[in-house]
Amino acid sequence: MPAVKVPRREAEPVKRRLKKLNLYDGKRRPRREDEYVLLPVIEDGRVYSLGYEVLPVELPLRPERQIYKNLESVLAERLSREELKYLRRYDVMGDIAVIQIPPELEHRIEDIVWGLRKVHPFLKVIARKGFHEGAFRIRDYSIIWGEERLETVHRENGVQIKVDLSKAFFNPRMKGERYRLAQLVRDGERVLIPFAGVLPYALVVARYRRVKITAVELNKEAYELGLENVERNRKRLKGEIEFLHGDAFKVLPELPSYDRVVSPTPRGVDALALTLSKAERWLHYYDFVHEGEIERFRARILEECLKLGRDCAVRVKKVSDFKPHVFKVCADVEVR
Ligand code: SAH
Repeated sequence: MPAVKVPRREAEPVKRRLKKLNLYDGKRRPRREDEYVLLPVIEDGRVYSLGYEVLPVELPLRPERQIYKNLESVLAERLSREELKYLRRYDVMGDIAVIQIPPELEHRIEDIVWGLRKVHPFLKVIARKGFHEGAFRIRDYSIIWGEERLETVHRENGVQIKVDLSKAFFNPRMKGERYRLAQLVRDGERVLIPFAGVLPYALVVARYRRVKITAVELNKEAYELGLENVERNRKRLKGEIEFLHGDAFKVLPELPSYDRVVSPTPRGVDALALTLSKAERWLHYYDFVHEGEIERFRARILEECLKLGRDCAVRVKKVSDFKPHVFKVCADVEVR
């Protein structure tokens, strides 16, 4: 089988490129040789026209359990094509997988459990997920396989986050967004994070930047998990986190203003005026907006800035799909 020989420093980007082109052979292991890495590729004419040196080498096969498979392809063995269409995305947090199961697949729960365990052999719990409910945004879950718990430690962006899905909100899909934010923050900033949950944003920012963070959360159980998370990550954090238990609408007016405010606002809560009034330089305001209303949302922020006598620049970024035509967005507001 062919392998592409690249300098070690270039191995990651080249691997990504090969994967994108569907030329990377994930069934085999790459091998390091001095200052070079041999990346396994599939037998395909295109491999020779990328400008890399290609060698014929026998790279060893990965053990079967390490070969990445996706749930859909695994389940294709057991579900009809029609049924596969109803399969939803799922999340893995620590050793817990959560998946939404639509009524059309109600009779396939056992197969779905089998498939998830095949793809993720380390799982200890599989739960089906309902919707976020109440002010604390806790989802309603039912365990369909494994241990009777919804507590686990999730790893993300170099931090460990203890979560308990029965007690507090957590969304692993925001990992890229948290990384983006952390990169925007500069050392030395004072950062305010209301609606902080079990502290995923605060931990990731503090992991990368030497900052002073004040976080606020109303749900006592999320607050306690957050405190535990600060302890758990103590050695990894460059920044400091002060965590306050209370209602952001009561606590924030008592606080000073900050260089940067990050508001992972719960759906249906309007905290724009509240958070903007605390931001000296930057506000990152999350909200759920219909795709046709994004301009309106931007205008509303600009109006609010005007009311406060601030000159602002607003960029709205789609962060994720929430439901058809509705996006979770982040407004990056620069206050001048
Ligand atoms: N930032 C966290 C949580 C976002 S969900 C994360 O991304 O994981 C919104 C959070 O706001 C929930 O944890 C909820 O308990 C909290 N919350 C809701 N109303 C609040 C209020 N008035 N004051 C402080 N926190 C509140």
